[in-house]
Amino acid sequence: AAKRAGGNRAMEFAHALREQARQRSATENELRRAVHADELFVVYQPVVSLRNGRVEAVEALVRWRHPVRGLVSPVDFIGIAEETGLIVEVGAFVLREACRQFMRWQRQHGTRAPALMAVNLSRGQLPHPSLVDDVAAIIEATGMRPGQLQLEVTESMAAQDAAVQTRLRDLKRLGLTLALDDFGTGYSSLASLHQLPVDVLKIDRSFVSQLETSRHHRVLVESTVRVAQSLALRTVAEGIETEAQAGMLAAMQCDKGQGYHFARPLGVAEFDAWLQARP
Ligand code: C2E
Ligand code: MG
Ligand code: MG
Ligand code: MG
Repeated sequence: AAKRAGGNRAMEFAHALREQARQRSATENELRRAVHADELFVVYQPVVSLRNGRVEAVEALVRWRHPVRGLVSPVDFIGIAEETGLIVEVGAFVLREACRQFMRWQRQHGTRAPALMAVNLSRGQLPHPSLVDDVAAIIEATGMRPGQLQLEVTESMAAQDAAVQTRLRDLKRLGLTLALDDFGTGYSSLASLHQLPVDVLKIDRSFVSQLETSRHHRVLVESTVRVAQSLALRTVAEGIETEAQAGMLAAMQCDKGQGYHFARPLGVAEFDAWLQARP
């Protein structure tokens, strides 16, 4: 009986694996189509100065409007895009779209427009041999200044092998800046920060959300800001949802903030309205 139960379990397991593979390949095919069918679009979340409230930057965040499933979060498809190599196309789409939009805002809003566009780079894009040339071509085609672009990478990506570090330095040589996204959730520590070719630290939302309730988190964030300052890195706090969090981070001299307290990720028309409504 035990043997039969084991056999059943093995069959169930095989079935579950097949089902998972089937779903993945369905999503993969749909995603392949989505890239060409205009189902992907980009929303923009403002990043504001915690000193004076000015809009400093926007972060481009990809969305998928699926004809049947509705709005799909990047959390649910970036992973599959990575595994299937589609991330190269998705990434290029987001970068091109974001840079174009950035230039439209420059023309439309002048000095009120955000001065910096932040775009997430994913692990699967880094080893791609044409990445640096592709980024350079998009900057060139849109007429952006390289310094107006910031690419966000995660700690685990940036701390990888020498090849990755070289690729990151090649990107920086274009004149753009790099931000370390979700800082505090990865493997690298404050001690190894000085080895990474980054300009900005984005303190992860999981720390910000506990500022009001946990002394431990307050100390961690404060130390992070101090170390960043000593390395001449800028700091951005992610996921600020309350006035109190914004106040505490400002008091810690964190430079910038991003989160629902200021604005959710916005479509282009919504962003225009948000910007117009500001004093
Ligand atoms: P991320 O780069 O750390 O982006 C911040 C995420 O936090 C966004 O989720 C944003 O909507 C969310 N967020 C911002 N403020 C708040 C807040 O106050 N409270 C809460 N609860 N959440 C907040 P989103 O857009 O779902 O993106 C999730 C992740 O997916 C991103 O994390 C990023 O890692 C990835 N991603 C998004 N767009 C792209 C893209 O174009 N390319 C790549 N490679 N990855 C992307
Ligand atoms: Mg990001
Ligand atoms: Mg982040
Ligand atoms: Mg985060």
